[in-house]
Amino acid sequence: MFRASSNGEIWTSAPSEVHAAQRFALVRVPPKGLSGAIVLSEEVLGTEIHFWGGRSMPCSRADCKACLEGISARWYGWLWILAEKGGMISIVEITAAAAEQTRAYVEQQGSLRGARFAAQRLPAKPNGRMTLFLRPSHYDAAKLPTPGSLITALERMWNATSHRQGGERTDELAPRNQA
Ligand SMILES: [Zn+2]
Repeated sequence: MFRASSNGEIWTSAPSEVHAAQRFALVRVPPKGLSGAIVLSEEVLGTEIHFWGGRSMPCSRADCKACLEGISARWYGWLWILAEKGGMISIVEITAAAAEQTRAYVEQQGSLRGARFAAQRLPAKPNGRMTLFLRPSHYDAAKLPTPGSLITALERMWNATSHRQGGERTDELAPRNQA
């Protein structure tokens, strides 16, 4: 549950301090798009990613096994987001082109934190070109939940998935049971 009262208080059903030690769903923007989210990150953070052996792994440059095998890498960015319905905090994956779109918003507003986030795919396919829609929300950025380190959360996810096929990817902005 997440609700902002008329005088700016924010009520949630869980503590607002989020620890990177927790596991989070990694949300991919589905073909139908994604909306109803508030950005909690100040800015996009991203790195080069390989899709290799049925999972994603960050490129470790010098001693990267995927690079040695000639697997190409592509840059992806991530943002902490809060679902307005349900209050779930997750990490959304965006493309390099979509990350470029955040620049104008940051220049204008100073930060992505508190922005109303929506994403669309054109064509409406799993890998359709991603377009973001960012608008100021009525939430006070200072009172929104403060997630921990995005890098730590992603690294834990990658380490956890390195021992099995598949991953933590989901395209639903909804709570998810995780082992
Ligand atoms: Zn690599």
